[in-house]
Amino acid sequence: MQDPARQDDRHGEISIHNFDGRFAPSPTGQLHLGNLRTALLAWLFARSAGARFLVRVEDLDRSRVRPGVEEAQFSDLRALGLDWDGPAVRQSERMELYEEAIARLDADELLYPCYCTRAEIRSAASAPHGISASDRYPGTCRELTGAQRAMREASGRPPALRMRSDGGRIVFDDRLLGRFEEAVDDFVVRRNDGTPAYQLAVVVDDAAQGIGEVVRGADLTDSTPRQILLARLLGLPELRYAHVPLVLGPDGRRLAKRHGAVTLSERGEGPDEVHAWMARSLGLARAGEMPSPDDLIARFDPERLPREPTVWSPKTAV
Ligand code: GLU
Repeated sequence: MQDPARQDDRHGEISIHNFDGRFAPSPTGQLHLGNLRTALLAWLFARSAGARFLVRVEDLDRSRVRPGVEEAQFSDLRALGLDWDGPAVRQSERMELYEEAIARLDADELLYPCYCTRAEIRSAASAPHGISASDRYPGTCRELTGAQRAMREASGRPPALRMRSDGGRIVFDDRLLGRFEEAVDDFVVRRNDGTPAYQLAVVVDDAAQGIGEVVRGADLTDSTPRQILLARLLGLPELRYAHVPLVLGPDGRRLAKRHGAVTLSERGEGPDEVHAWMARSLGLARAGEMPSPDDLIARFDPERLPREPTVWSPKTAV
């Protein structure tokens, strides 16, 4: 499944030399200031290491994809001076890769069908830490007998496919957050509508695209143990991770549309001012300065990045 041209002795080990990075937006709405700042950081991590930077469109959830959004996202990235190598890839065009990985896990007897509805999972969930309790699977369908399975089949509801994770604990060292440890639950690899799950597609794509370091928002930290486990089971190289601080709204919640004018096109100031605000919020520029993307590369030092989220309010001039 890995691009043979990129296969090397990295197999199963964290590569010290590969800093190739990516930004992987879902084309479900315009990028807001928080998404854009994450993109800038992912670009800075890769480019300051002289590495490739790729863009991947995560458009598997067809019900949430909105026409025209992909182009708008690209144009915002370009307006902020971010460039990427080669054409962006779209997950919707890579189904065989995901199916191949699912078939491999299945052949290793690591998957089982799950007939549960969201409501059933929510009501059965105890409350472990990490991924919100309602997202963690309590194991209802793991040990169904043949007869129980047949009964569930008869309901006509198609099953999702889940990983038999056996509660294995995964430990990783995040470049910004330090050591992180979590038990992995039996998460979904193929949804019951047949769509490969985010967790699976990301792992397959990061490996196939030769990514060495994943830089993304801290809200995805909880997904990483699942992805590390999957990569191991699929025999793919281990990656490094840097989960970067989020931008929050004035209510302390993750920035979103309801917080006001949060996208580049809604801001009156223009991309240079937004770029300067992002740089200031990351400690990479002083008030009144308008550094170029190249200036930021020269100043960039991951060790000195803030670890805390930035609170933004519509009153904050960007
Ligand atoms: N597509 C995901 C998002 O927009 C990001 C996935 C990732 O960076 O791993 O939140």
